[in-house]
Order: sequence, then C-alpha cells, then structure tokens
Amino acid sequence: MSDRELPCDSCEGVVLFEAPPCVDGHGADCPELICTGCGAAVLIATFAFRAPRVGNRRGTTRRPHRRAA
Ligand SMILES: [Zn+2]
Ligand SMILES: [Zn+2]
Repeated sequence: MSDRELPCDSCEGVVLFEAPPCVDGHGADCPELICTGCGAAVLIATFAFRAPRVGNRRGTTRRPHRRAA
C-alpha cells in the first residue's frame, strides 16, 4: 500500500519507490521513500501533510460524524 511510483533523476524515469524501515517512529506515515532502482532517498513531505490520516492521528479531539440540517 505504501509503494509509490515517482520520477527519479538518477534513474531518468518513473520508478517504484518504497518506504524504508523507519527509525524515527513515523511508521506508516514516514515521509521517506527509497528508489528501488538506485536506492536514492526522497522526502514526500507534501504528500504526507496532505494525507488526511496524518491530521487525524495528530488531532486530540474526535468530533462525532453527524450531518447538520
Ligand atoms: Zn520516518
Ligand atoms: Zn532511482
């Protein structure tokens, strides 16, 4: 699920990136990806911050999901 296809400068093309073993405790939300072609590490900070589940994890209040009239 965490695999991504991204353009890599070294590989000169779109290659599959995979999340490396995270040592910072990010877990599934780790913004780092490793190029499976050349091993280059990239940060996908924009993707990480846009992911809704990141906001949910950091939020302290859980609002009930209800529809207002
Ligand atoms: Zn990490
Ligand atoms: Zn590469």
